[in-house]
Amino acid sequence: MKKTALVLGAGGFIGGHLVKRLKRDGMQVRGVDLKHNEFSKSPADEFVIADLREQSAVRAVIDQRFDEVYQLAADMGGAGYIFTGENDADIMHNSALINLNVLDACRQKGVGRIFYSSSACMYPEHNQLDPDNPNCEESSAYPANPDSEYGWEKLFSERLYLAYARNYGMDCHIARYHNIFGPEGTWTGGKEKAPAALCRKVAETPDGGRIQVWGDGLQTRSFLFIDECIEGTIRLLRSNFAGPVNIGSTEMISINDLARMIIGLSGKRIEIENVNGFQGVRGRNSDNRLIRQALGWAPSQPLKAGIAKTLKWIDERVHEHAFA
Ligand code: NAD
Repeated sequence: MKKTALVLGAGGFIGGHLVKRLKRDGMQVRGVDLKHNEFSKSPADEFVIADLREQSAVRAVIDQRFDEVYQLAADMGGAGYIFTGENDADIMHNSALINLNVLDACRQKGVGRIFYSSSACMYPEHNQLDPDNPNCEESSAYPANPDSEYGWEKLFSERLYLAYARNYGMDCHIARYHNIFGPEGTWTGGKEKAPAALCRKVAETPDGGRIQVWGDGLQTRSFLFIDECIEGTIRLLRSNFAGPVNIGSTEMISINDLARMIIGLSGKRIEIENVNGFQGVRGRNSDNRLIRQALGWAPSQPLKAGIAKTLKWIDERVHEHAFA
């Protein structure tokens, strides 16, 4: 019998890549989302369009004891979505409802292992004011003070998974992802994140032109390429370690330097203009000591390699659009 996996949020960026990987590994996969993947057809054995805010829909898709459940569905986006304040009620309500419904249905069916994707956005803002020395050690999460409602919902849901594990003996594994990027991620429309937005701007700008970068560009982040995110996700779910644990890169870079890296890869001469924009905390970097200790593994690929693949993919989309 093939092992079975359920991927919630399978129509999204990370879920789409995860389904492909689980299929390559020979699993039987059911994917669920509000929508199909935008950029390629899902190889899932079954792909169910369902709204996971609806308890009855969740019960219908969690109708058996899956060996592995990956819960990636959330109402989310980049800084232009989660920091404006305009989407706060939706973000909290929608994602919390999904997690409440999913956990309860998983409990009723006695599913095997459950993975939950939290985010580095749950770390306290006061530990991320110095762009050169952010503290994202897992134990620094409390006293809590995330800088967005998105982060607060992630924190609440982490605790929900831990509570179900404690009270019902469920096998939950929690990752805190740090800025995942790569081909087939949102690259336009307002929900895209910095690497995709900057790749798009560079792809759209002719030689000798100028791109806008939000903030003074000195804010720092680390970015993890999608393949390593998927590897870490599967390793964590199949381990004996519950987390929460960071899945991210330790290659911290300022946003202006990221823009310069992308411009350099494009081979064009492009200037950077720093403008007012949403930017979140001043600095953030993954701390990988715990994942290395718990899983004997940590991401190791250089940022530039992943950025090159992403730029190529976005450049093709931009030029397809221009000539469509
Ligand atoms: P994404 O937006 O591409 O995928 C999320 C998917 O959830 C979308 O396809 C969306 O349609 C689906 N969804 C939302 N509401 C739903 C509902 N009511 N019913 C069914 N499906 C619903 O985002 P992603 O980048 O693939 O992120 C996956 C998970 O990882 C999310 O939980 C996100 O918060 C978390 N995360 C991502 C990053 C990152 O950098 N991409 C960083 C930290 C955490």
